[in-house]
Amino acid sequence: MSPEFLLARLVSFPSVVGRPNDAIVGFVRDHLAEHGLRAHVIAGPEGDRSNLFATIGPADMPGFILSGHLDVVPADEPQWLGDPFEMREQDGKLIGRGTCDMKGFVAAVLSAVPDLVAMDLPVPIHLALSYDEEAGCRGVPHLLRQLPTLCAPALGCIVGEPSNLTPVLRHKGKAAIRLSAKGLSGHSSRPDLGSNAIHKLAAPLSAAVAAAAELQDGAQDARFAPPYSTLQVGIMRGGQAVNIIPESAEIEIEARAIPGVEPERLLDPIRMAAGADVEIELLSSYPPLSLPDDHLLVPLLAELTGRQPLGAVSYGTEAGLFQQAGVPSIICGPGDIARAHKPEEFLTREELHAARDFVLALGRKLVRA
Ligand SMILES: [Zn+2]
Repeated sequence: MSPEFLLARLVSFPSVVGRPNDAIVGFVRDHLAEHGLRAHVIAGPEGDRSNLFATIGPADMPGFILSGHLDVVPADEPQWLGDPFEMREQDGKLIGRGTCDMKGFVAAVLSAVPDLVAMDLPVPIHLALSYDEEAGCRGVPHLLRQLPTLCAPALGCIVGEPSNLTPVLRHKGKAAIRLSAKGLSGHSSRPDLGSNAIHKLAAPLSAAVAAAAELQDGAQDARFAPPYSTLQVGIMRGGQAVNIIPESAEIEIEARAIPGVEPERLLDPIRMAAGADVEIELLSSYPPLSLPDDHLLVPLLAELTGRQPLGAVSYGTEAGLFQQAGVPSIICGPGDIARAHKPEEFLTREELHAARDFVLALGRKLVRA
């Protein structure tokens, strides 16, 4: 099957983050089964969505993981010129939600499966597909927990997020929390009879603003822009009217950490400033990615792509979690991240085929090695 056909099929599943994904997982599982591969479908605690893992070659030998996510961000933007879940082609551009981020990479890998199977690989290539990556990598931890039972310790993981097929060695880590406060509503003229939910969040809010300012003078890593860890309050909600005591309030805060810094630690000053009656929920968390320059993945990917590796990118991926699970990881996938999460998202035919060629080149390299 051509990668274009497979990409159109993958796009046709509206596998929007946070929703059940049985349909798209079933499609991938059936495609693999047609080529004699048994997929492990690894359900998450939600019960209605799963990761998928499959191996081409001997699973008991250390090999390489190709990683992608099957979920996409919603496609509600009015600027779409057609159904975002029905792939269109225009001037060599394959347009649809997820074409770039990152069903294109998945389609490239799936289209290479028959050739990889025929190569009789002495070193395995694994396919790891996750769910709810766009919600802060919520799905893949459940796959990573099973990884030791699925294959021998892997030599490396290639995360196919859009990088213009340039190998990327580093990204920041991220953690996000929501703080909620409950109050007691009433007329604003009698604050003595009520309890103000917004006021309860004033201390953690101030702590966040202060912590954000301090980070600028904290640990530095010149390979990133900006070169330090950052923190911001992104959402603030609460209250109904200026003359009503607010009954509830919440703020959401996100921290991004340079390698060597644990993202959740950046939020400690905020946790400490929050009173006992403020509820704190961890929304998402993944560690920074930092692959040493001299790791074998670096020259390997440079050779396979013909592109010089890039030090760092500003977006996050599942690669940090693979690294944390003991699998050295690198990012390398087709398309430009600037097109992701936007209306009329696209991947060119050329980019799609280059990704397929890259996967096949990896297979040939493993046969020769
Ligand atoms: Zn992505």
